[in-house]
Amino acid sequence: MELDLQPIKLEGVSEERPLIIAGPCSAETEEQVMSTAKQLADNGVKIFRAGIWKPRTKPGGFEGIGVEGLPWLKEVKKETGMYVATEVATAKHVYECLKAGIDILWIGARTTANPFAMQEIADALKGVDVPVFVKNPVNPDLELWIGALERINNAGLKRLGAIHRGFSSYDKKLYRNLPQWHIPIELRRRIPNLPILCDPSHIGGKRELIAPLCQQAMDLGFDGLIVESHCNPDCAWSDASQQVTPDVLNYILNLLVIRSEHQSTENLSELRRQIDECDNDLMEILAKRMRVCREIGTFKKEHNMTILQTGRYNEILDKRGAQGSLCGMDAEFVKQVFEAIHEESVRQQMEIINK
Ligand code: PEP
Ligand code: MN
Repeated sequence: MELDLQPIKLEGVSEERPLIIAGPCSAETEEQVMSTAKQLADNGVKIFRAGIWKPRTKPGGFEGIGVEGLPWLKEVKKETGMYVATEVATAKHVYECLKAGIDILWIGARTTANPFAMQEIADALKGVDVPVFVKNPVNPDLELWIGALERINNAGLKRLGAIHRGFSSYDKKLYRNLPQWHIPIELRRRIPNLPILCDPSHIGGKRELIAPLCQQAMDLGFDGLIVESHCNPDCAWSDASQQVTPDVLNYILNLLVIRSEHQSTENLSELRRQIDECDNDLMEILAKRMRVCREIGTFKKEHNMTILQTGRYNEILDKRGAQGSLCGMDAEFVKQVFEAIHEESVRQQMEIINK
């Protein structure tokens, strides 16, 4: 299914990469919101984020200031001219935000993972023209992410975007949420005109990772960044370890190298020609391998042998992995390639045996 999208054009906000959204994890007090917003606006940030309702893993944590915080965001708009954005997780949140004139909404990762909640939000948004960003679900499920976008799109909203905030895992050694970059990359391939922002704060979980993650996202062609920034990060009521001051954020953003997607130099086209040639060779050799596999299939059929010969399969995987690392490739990667090839060979031999 194709999404019916329109660009998220915002007056006064540059259309150049990266689009920046910044602000605290949570709105805590009017002072904290205003002080953070003013510093961000002074540094040129045009879109302010702050969570009003916070989905927490366990009860007892700060669950957001609630509707009381919405007038503070109105005040941010009035005082700084920034657009304001917040997270909605229920239909009631949507109504409250629309009433308060919130400019941009986002759907949190836990909500995207729940189709009932997504449908309820989509129904509440019917007939409204407000930009909505949908974060990836907590689990690495691209279809669920796209499904959530489809629900909002089916409600008639066309100014949509996605936010990559990483995927939950038991192992939190380096990242709070694993980036699994191939998932947003596949989203870009499937829906090329959907803007994708990266949320380095929730991927990294610690402030030292913000800068490298922002750079990685830019190098992968993401359209923008949504970063948590707080006037006094260490005292934040939620996600303290991953927030940075507006000045640190400004420093990080100024150091970003933004590479162009469209620089097609002479050299690059020669290298691309070589890649095409390699791919053609790969294709021919792969086709040849499949032909041989089918011959083996015929032999196995005639001699009443099983298709899967586990000993041989393990031998291939181990040998190819070792050969691969001798050639400077990652053994695990080479094994994965051969697993995929083997799967297709088995499928082809099954066809022959069942003919
Ligand atoms: C947030 O943006 O503060 C938030 C709760 O994020 P996520 O839904 O990605 O966990
Ligand atoms: Mn947060």
